[in-house]
Amino acid sequence: MRYDVVIIGGAIVGSSIAYYLRGEGFSGSIALVERDPQFAHAATTLSCASIRQQFSIPENIRLSQFTLKLFRRLTEEFGADADIGFREGGYLILAGENGLPILRANHEAQMAEGADIVLEDADALVRRFPWLSAEGITAGAYGRSGEGWFDAHAMLMLFRKALRGKNIDFITADVTGIERQGDRVTSVSLGNGERLEAGIVIDAAGPNAGQVADMAGLALPVEPRKRNVFVFEAREKYADMPLLVDPSGIYVRPEGSVYITGGAEPEEGDGPADPGDFEPDWPLFEEVIWPVLATRIPAFEAIKPTRAWAGHYDYNTLDQNAVIGPHPEVKNFLFANGFSGHGLQQAPAVGKALAELIVHGGYRTVDCTAFGYSRVAEGRAFRELNVI
Ligand SMILES: Cc1cc2nc3c(=O)[nH]c(=O)nc-3n(C[C@H](O)[C@H](O)[C@H](O)COP(=O)(O)OP(=O)(O)OC[C@H]3O[C@@H](n4cnc5c(N)ncnc54)[C@H](O)[C@@H]3O)c2cc1C
Repeated sequence: MRYDVVIIGGAIVGSSIAYYLRGEGFSGSIALVERDPQFAHAATTLSCASIRQQFSIPENIRLSQFTLKLFRRLTEEFGADADIGFREGGYLILAGENGLPILRANHEAQMAEGADIVLEDADALVRRFPWLSAEGITAGAYGRSGEGWFDAHAMLMLFRKALRGKNIDFITADVTGIERQGDRVTSVSLGNGERLEAGIVIDAAGPNAGQVADMAGLALPVEPRKRNVFVFEAREKYADMPLLVDPSGIYVRPEGSVYITGGAEPEEGDGPADPGDFEPDWPLFEEVIWPVLATRIPAFEAIKPTRAWAGHYDYNTLDQNAVIGPHPEVKNFLFANGFSGHGLQQAPAVGKALAELIVHGGYRTVDCTAFGYSRVAEGRAFRELNVI
């Protein structure tokens, strides 16, 4: 079997690349190889499915803005019944005295990109959200529009459905090896013993991307990091509640009639997850999250945790930012990895960008040059400060 493009990983990033390749008029053959077609352990389906403009670097804001525009014209792109339940509830990122300079600098970067974010002091925030306690808070940045949450599974299915009839081979298999001859990758080996010859290989393997790159003899600082999400019920329903990020890093947001929360993993000791470990760490909720929630939103002193899940972040240990584009020497191996907690909202933009690169030889809509691999080779961090 020979394909012009072999994409490893068929969740949101891989599917988006395939979708936009056809959208840009690519007529070559495409194989989308996925080992877990139920996506039971994919970051995509285990994510918190939120989108924001509140990043520290303009390039990340632009990637999310591309997706936001897509969300606003979803039915035009995917048909009249396209719906991902997008709720534009906003983010509210809080800072104490120490965090204020960074919050302010981030806010300036966001305003320069045209984002609708207001920076307010503690009194104004409590007037806006009377359920909030401003204890230890100096200011907060609130997204009045352009931020919110949606149904990740519905978004993935939208892209997967849109691939049907577009002459793409869906292959259910584990990629176990990648063959290279000098500075070209030539084929991909599958667990079932088959081999796919490839003109271009794209790594869209999410948290497993570092291992896939390694199969081609390429170093990529991306590893799985376990992240827990807890669901709880509360008597009070705050319809105006945004996705709130406490200065401790703990976040909470409404999800229908319940709430979800997380962000309690300590930096110290944070390391690669056991690829088979998806067991939620309940003590994080009881010992770390609950006390913070009860302080920040006093009505949350009385809440009832109901369930939890754990997923793996596709964590870039160099700078918590995406690696996008070709390897500088092995030019037919392309990366779309390391999104470190914001890959779902960036996937449509990344798909479009890589499709343009392959079809037109350069980025046209969203310039992803800054995310290129050369910084990895040079050990030069391109750091995103707002990692949630
Ligand atoms: C708890 C949690 C909360 C998050 N919250 C958000 C959020 O609010 N907003 C946001 O934008 N992002 C969020 N993210 C991050 C986001 O989910 C990811 O960045 C994004 O889904 C990455 O998509 P992907 O397609 O690259 O990876 P994945 O969804 O993990 O897909 C990779 C696919 O590759 C397949 N694969 C891997 N190796 C192989 C192989 N060798 N052979 C064949 N197939 C293979 C896997 O089976 C998998 O289906 C969150 C992530 C987690 C874990």
